[in-house]
Amino acid sequence: MSLNIQRNDTVEVITGADKGKRGRVLRVLGDKNRVLVEHVRMVKKHVHPNPQRNIKGGIAEQESAIQISNVMLVCSSCGPTRVGYKFEGDKKVRVCKKCGQAITPKGKK
Ligand SMILES: [Zn+2]
Repeated sequence: MSLNIQRNDTVEVITGADKGKRGRVLRVLGDKNRVLVEHVRMVKKHVHPNPQRNIKGGIAEQESAIQISNVMLVCSSCGPTRVGYKFEGDKKVRVCKKCGQAITPKGKK
């Protein structure tokens, strides 16, 4: 399976407890077929205090990775969509299968 999802993409969760939530991809764990999505699948973590790094102990919330097959890339005009590819010159770009618009991660050209 090829990885259609990249860092900084906007994705929507299509299944599970967080279904319908959208967020930015923080990290792609390609070898595990998982992604970390901002504000999705938050888990509470106990943090040990570390005065040297100015970390106060306690409970912090943190994203945990979800299956890449549970998210869909979001097209800015159509919403969640399947991904196609086209060539612009010799560059392969991802496109929305519904409207054909190129999909690029935010902050990247
Ligand atoms: Zn589209």
